[in-house]
Amino acid sequence: MKPAPFRYHAPKTIAEAVETLGEVAAEDGRVLAGGQSLVPIMAFRLARPAHLVDINGVAALRRLAVKGERLCIGACVRHAAFHEPVVNGPLGRLLSTVVRHIGHYPIRTRGTFCGSIAHADPASEWCLVAAALGGEMVAQSTRGGRTTPAQDFFRGIMTTALADDELLTEVRLPILPADTRFGFYEFSRRAGDFALGMALVTFRVQNDVISEPRVAVGGIEPQPRRIAQAELALAGNPPSRQAFEAAAEAVAAAVDPLEDAMTNADYRRDLARTVTRRALERAVA
Ligand SMILES: Cc1cc2nc3c(=O)[nH]c(=O)nc-3n(C[C@H](O)[C@H](O)[C@H](O)COP(=O)(O)OP(=O)(O)OC[C@H]3O[C@@H](n4cnc5c(N)ncnc54)[C@H](O)[C@@H]3O)c2cc1C
Repeated sequence: MKPAPFRYHAPKTIAEAVETLGEVAAEDGRVLAGGQSLVPIMAFRLARPAHLVDINGVAALRRLAVKGERLCIGACVRHAAFHEPVVNGPLGRLLSTVVRHIGHYPIRTRGTFCGSIAHADPASEWCLVAAALGGEMVAQSTRGGRTTPAQDFFRGIMTTALADDELLTEVRLPILPADTRFGFYEFSRRAGDFALGMALVTFRVQNDVISEPRVAVGGIEPQPRRIAQAELALAGNPPSRQAFEAAAEAVAAAVDPLEDAMTNADYRRDLARTVTRRALERAVA
C-alpha cells in the first residue's frame, strides 16, 4: 500500500521547523526524522498525517557533543553514530554495546536516537537507556522551550510528554564516572527483532560494596523504568550472586508485565527476572 496524500515541508533551521510544526500540528502534522517507524505505519495507512515536517535538512540538529557533564544528542543523530564509542569512558562503551541490538544495519543508518525517544516503543533500547540513566529531553515549540526528565517523559505505550507541536531537539545523557560498571541483556526471538524483554544496569563498587546502582527494564511494561526495590537490594552489598539474585527477584515482584498474542504476564515476569540477573552478571564479567 502507498501512504495517504500529505504535504511535505523541508525547513532548514530549528526556528523554521518549530514554526512550521506549530502551524500544521493541529492537522496531524508530524515530524519526519529517520522515517524508520513513521514511514512503515504510513505505508500501512495506520497513520495518515496531512503534513510531514522533514528535519533532515536542519544542520543544527546533527550536533553530538559533550557539554559540561552531559552528552547532548541532537534530533538528527542516527543510531549508527554510536557504533563506535562517541565519548571516552563507560557511557561511550554502554551506547556502542546497546546500539547493536537496534533492528538491522540499514535501519541504524537512517533511524535517529531522538526519533526512538519520541516514538516511545516500550521495547526501544534508547528509551531504556534514557530511563536508566535519567536522560533529559529538550523540546521546543513556538510557546518556548522546556526540558523534561525521563521519569516524567515516558507516559505509556508510544505515549510521551511531548505535545503535538513540540520538536524534540535534543536528548542529554549524564557522563558516567570512569569506574561505573554496566551490563545490558536483551532477549528477542531473532537477531534484529524488537526485544521481548531487556535490562540495563549500572553501578560503582566502592570499598568492595555496590554504590549508586541503577536497574531498569524495558519491553516488559508499557514504558521502561528504574526499579527502586532492585536498587535497594544491591546498594551496600558486595557484587555477588546472592545480591544479583535478590535484585532480579525484586524486579520480578515489582513489574506489571504486558501481555500480547505471543506471551503472557507470567512469561514476561520470568523474563524480567532473567534479563536482570544476566545484565548484572555482565556488569562484573
Ligand atoms: C524492521 C525494523 C526493526 C526495528 N527494530 C528496532 C529495535 O529493535 N529497537 C528499536 O528501538 N527500534 C527499532 N526499530 C525502529 C527504529 O529504531 C526507528 O528508527 C525509531 O523507532 C524511530 O526513529 P526515526 O528517526 O526513524 O523516527 P521516525 O520514524 O521519523 O518518527 C517516529 C515518530 O516519532 C516522531 N518524531 C521523530 N523525531 C521527532 C522529533 N525530533 N521531535 C518530535 N517528534 C519526533 C515522528 O513524528 C513519528 O511520530 C525498527 C524499525 C524497523 C523498520
